[in-house]
Amino acid sequence: MSRPDLQQALATAASLPAASGRTRIPVLSVVIPLYNESGSLGLLHQRLSAALDTLPLEVGRRELVFVDDGSRDTTFAEVGMLRAQDANVKAIRFARNFGKEAAMAAGLRAASGDVVVLMDGDLQHPPELIAEMVTHWQQGASMVTAVRRSRDTDPWLRRQLSRAFYSLFKRVSEVALAEGGGDFRLFDRAVVDAINSLPERTRFMKGITSWVGFRQVEVDFEPEERAAGASAWSMLRLLRYAVDGLSTFSTLPLRVWSLVGLVMAAISGLYGGWLVVRTAIWGIDVPGYASIMVAVLFLSGIQLISLGVLGEYVGRIFTEVKARPLYLVAERIGFERQEPQA
Ligand code: UDP
Ligand code: MG
Repeated sequence: MSRPDLQQALATAASLPAASGRTRIPVLSVVIPLYNESGSLGLLHQRLSAALDTLPLEVGRRELVFVDDGSRDTTFAEVGMLRAQDANVKAIRFARNFGKEAAMAAGLRAASGDVVVLMDGDLQHPPELIAEMVTHWQQGASMVTAVRRSRDTDPWLRRQLSRAFYSLFKRVSEVALAEGGGDFRLFDRAVVDAINSLPERTRFMKGITSWVGFRQVEVDFEPEERAAGASAWSMLRLLRYAVDGLSTFSTLPLRVWSLVGLVMAAISGLYGGWLVVRTAIWGIDVPGYASIMVAVLFLSGIQLISLGVLGEYVGRIFTEVKARPLYLVAERIGFERQEPQA
């Protein structure tokens, strides 16, 4: 999408005060990324359908958009079986594992609802909460974020790291993230359109949802244990995700090196002056191996770090410039028209 198009889309989205769908009977979409979730899929469908049957809102039509992010197990076959029982099920299968962010982006593009709920497929996000989220939407909220008040289901180290990440993010970036706000959200159509119009390739949904703005409301929830299987997020993968998030929403890591350089230059200037004075008064003394080594090693370390940070950003510019699609779709079930690829 070109710049003027993007601006126009955002302007239209902002000028409609979340009114879309509220005059007629709304269509509801639920978007669920799946990666090796065959163990929880049946139960998920059951609980979700039951929850949607008892919504405090008259829904015209509903659709469950499953995005299979290149699962290695029988997830997609099982989605096919669900489709045979339930015509509301729609599915997209990626050609390989492209990551949860890509899966969420694909699901949001494919969803046609006036209200779109995004949730995990491992039942850590209780479908019963959708009723409360929908109520907030009816009262005029454009985005409802389910915020986990406790992280008891996470290991200790992960909890600490995640806390550190949020406080760092708050300090250095242009957007504020709701701590504990995950990817369990409800969006109004206007917000989905705004998110879909963002052209970037390095996706960081937590930042994007905060960047687009609109009227946001938070609801609390207690995450459940995974219904089956294991979390696909290793420490390393989470770290990469954190670096992605910081670098797409902050340029502080790039700029801080000018300051570090300035301070270093000032200190070495003072030190140089002191050396001149000292030599003039007391003459030359040769020993100084230790201080030279320390200075050389320290400064090379700093230079390598700053080069590495530059590399992070250059790498990201490279991915954006290559403009490869965010994901490749291998198969679609239940969609009438072929959606354009990312
Ligand atoms: N997921 C995905 N692609 C991936 C990894 C995960 O679509 O590469 C999905 C997964 O199936 C689940 C959601 O993203 O529906 C959350 O994943 P997970 O439970 O592993 O993350 P955690 O809850 O540990 O943050
Ligand atoms: Mg999970």
